[in-house]
Amino acid sequence: MVEILGEKKICKKCGKCCRLISSTKSYEQLCEEAKTGDSVAINFLKLFLPYESIADAIKIDSQLVDSVVEMNKRVYGPDVQTYFYHCRYINFENECMAYDMRPKLCRQYPKNEFVPVPSDCSYEGYSFAAREKVKAKVRKAKEDLLDIKVMREKAVERGVIEKFNKLEGKLTALVENYKAFGSYDW
Ligand code: SF4
Ligand code: SF4
Repeated sequence: MVEILGEKKICKKCGKCCRLISSTKSYEQLCEEAKTGDSVAINFLKLFLPYESIADAIKIDSQLVDSVVEMNKRVYGPDVQTYFYHCRYINFENECMAYDMRPKLCRQYPKNEFVPVPSDCSYEGYSFAAREKVKAKVRKAKEDLLDIKVMREKAVERGVIEKFNKLEGKLTALVENYKAFGSYDW
């Protein structure tokens, strides 16, 4: 289903990634947006169909449904709703019937290392390694932030202080960027 780092062959073709597409928008909301010409909604609806109920999505992979709902709450706030969809182009053999035309979203799955993937997905190991890399980068940024504070207190030249301020802003933004995924505790 996916192509990442040229490792197409290792996908197990379980089809879960194509059958558990999530959005914080309901089908009705997306239809309304599509009517106004919103291209994101139009393209989404070209591919994905809503489940009748969350229970139908849970049948595919309850753990993944829980993880996605929890992630969305962390990212968008506790009141956010998560809706699940399935792709109209996946067949009974878990093959993509629109493989050559599949969107970037599918080609790059799982692009964001913090987006939950099924626990038995071939790419879980890749995602785990990528998450660890980001965590190491954030930990280093936090250490550097402490050093910057100490060094800035000792600095006297305005130019040097400004350089520290700039660097501090950049590193703080990096830590902040992963706040919803727990960067303050890493
Ligand atoms: S277009 Fe193909 S790869 Fe993308 S979700 Fe649908 S079935 Fe999966
Ligand atoms: S969830 Fe993972 S293993 Fe299953 S089809 Fe998608 S990419 Fe392949």
